[in-house]
Amino acid sequence: MAEPSLTPLWDVHVHLPAYPDPASVIAGAAARGMRLVSVTTSPSEAARNLEARRSNPAVVKCFLGVHPSEAASTPGGLEELDPLWREADGVGEVGLDPRYSEISDGSPQMTLFRGQVEVAERLGKPVQVHSRGGEAACLDVLEVHSPRSVLMHWFESEDLLERAVSGRRRFVSFGPALLYSKKLQRCARRCPPECTLVESDGPVSFAALGGVGGPGTAPSVAFRLAELWGRGFDEALEQLYANAGAYLG
Ligand SMILES: [Zn+2]
Repeated sequence: MAEPSLTPLWDVHVHLPAYPDPASVIAGAAARGMRLVSVTTSPSEAARNLEARRSNPAVVKCFLGVHPSEAASTPGGLEELDPLWREADGVGEVGLDPRYSEISDGSPQMTLFRGQVEVAERLGKPVQVHSRGGEAACLDVLEVHSPRSVLMHWFESEDLLERAVSGRRRFVSFGPALLYSKKLQRCARRCPPECTLVESDGPVSFAALGGVGGPGTAPSVAFRLAELWGRGFDEALEQLYANAGAYLG
């Protein structure tokens, strides 16, 4: 007897190159009918991420970018990635985070972030932004440039949420912390359903969830969103699938 098939769920932010065996993560996602957007943190992960997509292009999209944590150690990041960005599906993970280093104008982090947003804008590709503690500074840059679409990943600022999703094709993604964090649940309630996406940030694991993490948690996050929206699970999956399509283009 054939199982009724659900709408595919996109985990829009996972670090496949950071797993010891990306192929098993891809196989697990494929078996659950899921799709993955895999991001990099440094140029050294680019080849592994392109290979992840090549091995299963129906399941994996490949984004390339330099994470704010690497800004000080990869001054040549953009030159290395320049020839590869054209074959990527998007630019990420990029952003600003004052926990790593200075984010003021002219700092290595700000220069790297701006440069990568300009790449996304020039190539007409979606971008994924890490903005912890630097939310307003990230939004300032994103409002000057106009990449085709923007995802603010693991966005936790209730006050800036409306600003983050104002404009065309602006999205916020919620991950496993939505299952227990009251603050994220308040953010998710304020975020319009048509601007919402689901992520795992795997291989990050969550102590509050007994140490689990990865794309396998994404259906629970989608289920929690359905509850917060007061919608059925299948209806929520359809909304999330349409949103991923609008984000990825
Ligand atoms: Zn990440």
